[in-house]
Amino acid sequence: MEFIDLASQQMRIRERITRGIEAVLNHGQYIMGPEIAALEEELARYVGARHAISCASGTDALLMALMARGIGPGDAVLTTPFTFVATAEVISLAGATPVFVDIDPKTYNIDPDRLEQCIAALRGGGAGPSALPRIDGLNALTPKAVITVDLFGLPADYSRLESIATREGMFLIEDAAQSFGAEHNGRKACAFGDIACTSFFPAKPLGCYGDGGMCFCNDNGMAEILRSIRLHGKGSHKYENVRIGINGRLDTIQAAILLAKFSLFEEEVHLRQAVAGRYNEKLRACRDLVTPVVPDGYQSVWAQYSLLARDEAQRDAIMKKMQAAGIPTVIYYPRPLHLQGAFSFLGYRAGDFPVSEDCARRIFSLPMHPYLGETDQDRIVAALLEAIGT
Ligand SMILES: *Cc1c(COP(=O)(O)O)cnc(C)c1O
Repeated sequence: MEFIDLASQQMRIRERITRGIEAVLNHGQYIMGPEIAALEEELARYVGARHAISCASGTDALLMALMARGIGPGDAVLTTPFTFVATAEVISLAGATPVFVDIDPKTYNIDPDRLEQCIAALRGGGAGPSALPRIDGLNALTPKAVITVDLFGLPADYSRLESIATREGMFLIEDAAQSFGAEHNGRKACAFGDIACTSFFPAKPLGCYGDGGMCFCNDNGMAEILRSIRLHGKGSHKYENVRIGINGRLDTIQAAILLAKFSLFEEEVHLRQAVAGRYNEKLRACRDLVTPVVPDGYQSVWAQYSLLARDEAQRDAIMKKMQAAGIPTVIYYPRPLHLQGAFSFLGYRAGDFPVSEDCARRIFSLPMHPYLGETDQDRIVAALLEAIGT
């Protein structure tokens, strides 16, 4: 059994993908060919954003968003420690300082109350309930931006996050790498904040056959800057360079693959919801496990279906027994970012973000993809229930 089965999807659209790749081979515009603009237009319309700017990866999308706002040395960028490393890595790449804020225990997304406390603590010179980096020059940092993450496909609490960002004059970046296709209050993921960033890594809800990503925004000026950064800071033409940028383009071949895959996407979102619904139904009664919470007004796209075990020992036992039964499970994420060596320069300690640390010890994810049939799913649930002895 596969954790994410990409082959079933390919079987359905293999011909369309082959035709798309052949079209690129025939016209030969491997860089910024016509499929790029077609994809950008289609996805902008889908999420309800005025502009879509494709790029080489989700990581580049986040980096480009920070660069577009001119974020750099002396700026603090607040984000969650319970995410994939790229979310915080780009803050350091831009020369700014990552400042972590703990998550909501139910949704695993950044906690708006704690975000407010952290901003107040930074502005007030350090006192407050939120743990801050233990670094020289902390008082001189300007809180400039927030990167929220829609973890496992569930949008963060944008009703509150957008109003906090507006009130505090902070730039809001939505890390929608896992949530393309999700919704909150009738708005699609990738339509929140000042710039939203998604990833087309193969395992994401909409994935290509390599690396890819996209920025979304409504501001015309910001879109121009993002297009410039994507192409080495170009001005009115390629050999006029008006700012420092990157080589951040999406390959035309990947855009062709994404166009083919996008034709199935709506249907796949519904299939994912059906799979998650069945997991919920069969596991909700199990008192030893915490099933995912989708609050009213939200629709997750179920990038992952993640559960909390009672404790670390029980989780390890469950995963071992399921592996023995031939069922793959994965831990997203076993170590929160404030305890990773890469961020040790920030001086955080164990205990600084108790909710993230607790989740990291207990969380695990079950196989999740649109083509997970009922027979396989019943096998997974049976093995899981047997592993915990119910
Ligand atoms: C996958 C992911 C990224 C990075 O995307 P890439 O396309 O792999 O660079 C960033 N943030 C989150 C939350 C992710 O899951």
